[in-house]
Amino acid sequence: MKPKVFITRELFKEPIERISQYYEVEVWDRYHQPPYEVLLGKAREVEALVSLLTDRIDCRLLQSSPRLRIVAQYAVGFDNIDINCATKLGIYVTNTPGVLTESTAELTWALILAVSRRIVESDVFVRWGEWYRSSTAWHPKMMLGFELMGKTLGVVGLGRIGRRVAEIGVRGFGMKVVYYDVVRNYEAEREIGAEFRELRDLLREADIVTIHVPLTPQTKHVINEDYLRLMKKTAILVNTARGAVVDTNALVKALREGWIAGAGIDVFEEEPLSPNHPLTALKNAVLVPHIGSATYEARYSMADAVADNLIAFYEGKLPPNLVNRDVVNLRSPGFK
Ligand code: NAP
Repeated sequence: MKPKVFITRELFKEPIERISQYYEVEVWDRYHQPPYEVLLGKAREVEALVSLLTDRIDCRLLQSSPRLRIVAQYAVGFDNIDINCATKLGIYVTNTPGVLTESTAELTWALILAVSRRIVESDVFVRWGEWYRSSTAWHPKMMLGFELMGKTLGVVGLGRIGRRVAEIGVRGFGMKVVYYDVVRNYEAEREIGAEFRELRDLLREADIVTIHVPLTPQTKHVINEDYLRLMKKTAILVNTARGAVVDTNALVKALREGWIAGAGIDVFEEEPLSPNHPLTALKNAVLVPHIGSATYEARYSMADAVADNLIAFYEGKLPPNLVNRDVVNLRSPGFK
């Protein structure tokens, strides 16, 4: 008999077909995520789960799922999963790193350009007739933004995505890169001239601060009021990592009171964001709905990576994107 897998949202046809050669597949085909209680019930009945970042895979769920052997997350971030608990229970957790690096780095640049050149504001200006009503086709001071060439890009978290964003900054826009990370990245220092800074120094120095750390207890609200006050008044903050890395209330104050010039935000502490949220009233913020990896290429490859991880596990091999490596000390991969 095939092991069962519950997939919490409709992915792509071919990767699902690949998975179904090894597993009995059930897909949650509604647009909305399965409610927690439903997830709890499904997880009890299956050997494998494919989760999204909106699915809460907590210790309660893991402990009450005696058959569960693997959680294959359809994302690179896994802050929705209690990893320590999974490891203690011998449950493998995998993610989909690398295949969404390019898409997320490109979205980061889309936001940087949208804020620095006031693209969204300008679009509204044209679309809603303000330009037309002004009866002025061109003015030396209309919609002024700032150039990127020669400016300093501050990368918080120089991992896969941060490294790619930095490279585009140096090679594409002639920027200087400073970075902060828990470990020094000597390869990036050599190849693109990135310079290490402590976080406080990076915030003081950078014209653009872009965040690429995972959400962990150490990074939660790391960009708080004190840190936002260190930034230049002309600087912009971009977050395509996780909303809770930034203290949103402090960010609203910073944007409203002009401690910083603008922000480009893809990820929020509260998702989906209410249209009544104070951020939506701020012209100097560009807001997009968590679309960092939202390209056909990335989302398809993520589904393929999920299939690769599940199939490797089925075959008794280490899944290529194993997150909790210590789990191998407790249990070998596979269902035997
Ligand atoms: P990654 O390669 O693991 O990069 C993260 C970097 O941050 C690593 O260099 C890591 O160092 C460093 N780091 C970890 N904790 C830190 C801390 N406390 N202080 C400073 N640096 C720290 O991950 P990635 O593939 O670039 O993805 C980064 C994050 O982006 C993901 O975790 C995810 O939350 C987010 N993301 C969002 C979207 C979206 O749709 N908006 C899409 C993809 C990813 P170590 O490697 O030494 O831990």
